[in-house]
Amino acid sequence: MCGIFGVYGHSEASNLAYLGLHALQHRGQESAGIVSTHGGKMYATRHMGRVGEAFDQKTLARVPGSNAIGHVRYSTAGSSELRNAQPFSVEYQHGSIAVAHNGNLVNALEVRRSLERQGSIFVTSSDTEVIVHLLARESGGDSPERLTRALAQVEGAYSALFLTENKLMAVRDPHGFRPLVMGRLKDAFVFASETCAFDLIEAEYIRELEPGEIVVVDQAGMRSLKPFQPAQPKSCVFEHVYFARPDSVVNGRSVYRSREQMGRELAREHGVSADIVIPVPDSGVAASIGYARESGIPYDMGLIRSHYVGRTFIEPQQSIRHFGVKLKLNAVREVLEGRRVIVVDDSIVRGTTSRKIVKMIRSAGAREVHVRISSPPTTHPCYYGIDTPTRSELIAASHSVDEIARYITADSLAYLSPEGLMRAVGAPGGRGFCDACFTGNYAVGFAQDGVPTDRLRRAGRVSGEHAPTPGQPTGGEPSPATPPKAPN
Ligand code: AMP
Repeated sequence: MCGIFGVYGHSEASNLAYLGLHALQHRGQESAGIVSTHGGKMYATRHMGRVGEAFDQKTLARVPGSNAIGHVRYSTAGSSELRNAQPFSVEYQHGSIAVAHNGNLVNALEVRRSLERQGSIFVTSSDTEVIVHLLARESGGDSPERLTRALAQVEGAYSALFLTENKLMAVRDPHGFRPLVMGRLKDAFVFASETCAFDLIEAEYIRELEPGEIVVVDQAGMRSLKPFQPAQPKSCVFEHVYFARPDSVVNGRSVYRSREQMGRELAREHGVSADIVIPVPDSGVAASIGYARESGIPYDMGLIRSHYVGRTFIEPQQSIRHFGVKLKLNAVREVLEGRRVIVVDDSIVRGTTSRKIVKMIRSAGAREVHVRISSPPTTHPCYYGIDTPTRSELIAASHSVDEIARYITADSLAYLSPEGLMRAVGAPGGRGFCDACFTGNYAVGFAQDGVPTDRLRRAGRVSGEHAPTPGQPTGGEPSPATPPKAPN
């Protein structure tokens, strides 16, 4: 859960990075940074907080030049503090290099321990730093070749931008878990996690990077390399469900259209008679519009969101999230009183949000509250860069839909089926998408001791197409001995 942005060959590189990061703010709000190159030197500015607070004219003046990369961070690996803010930049045997990374490396700990045994000193607790260490140890060949050899040693999810004094390299891991797109702005090349960043700076969207592709931009122009063995594409379906902005195009498909379609599929699968359909704003808006259109039940705004608080879930502290729902949402009695209400949201994680929302809608006078979720039950944690809690905290990992309905005090609860979700994202049969959070089918898993299961499988120590076994937690996380109680 991070956003990355890069520009090569524009006189206002850091200003463009600033704007691009603004558009990607929803991907991470803990810290923001920009690294640029100018006259063969590298410049950096990194701060805690959001883009608007992190930078001003003075800080942006510290990152001059026509090439820059930027990052907004939400920590899924490593703690939330300035030393972990990205882009990282280092001096090493080949000059300077900076990296902005979105994703999670599943074998970072294993690689880190091995490097530390050989004398490496790490300055951050983030998984991204292992890539920099691996790069620093490579010699021979040009920087794209060294990068390829370094990346061949890591496993998991990475969409990343690397900046040297004279090159920008954009890479996507062989499964393509996280998104990364490229575009043009006059003579400059631009890269971003999502196309909404291009809309803001009026850049032309060219295409998404392919899984396993490295795009190199330097004075000679742009070239594309495909140095890795092809793997099954596994784009994150949760980008379409929740994470990406609805005005972005991800996997060549409008996120808004996907969500609207999820709502339509949901209405077909789980219709119920009611007077109005309302969204949980903003995450449920597009899906509830689809639900209303398909069912013919009028759409209305029964909940109003304050835009002066961030995403509550995105704050790492449970105490803030607990308070957050009321801070963020309020019910409109005028809309809800005496009505049978269908309320649509994108997902239930711990169940705390839905429970409070149902209560809020009922207190505003609704006669019935039917909750519809535009994705399947979230039963498994993500190890590829989306922040989902451990299995023991995921309510759907240990409770049936009926039990969850009772817990959130809804008159009825229904989730979109996995098949409906895949139809909605234009991938009937589910090819090309990672849906591990809903199915437990991890494309790249890792075992209790931190050794990637891909490697174990190659060594004949585990078998099966998907490792670990569906339903089994991975990543050294103990499975709950007894089913957890529904949270209070
Ligand atoms: P919960 O109260 O834990 O059930 O959280 C559910 C809410 O969190 C839903 O409204 C979702 O839109 C939102 N949500 C789901 N996944 C995430 C995530 N990875 N990060 C932030 N918010 C999320």
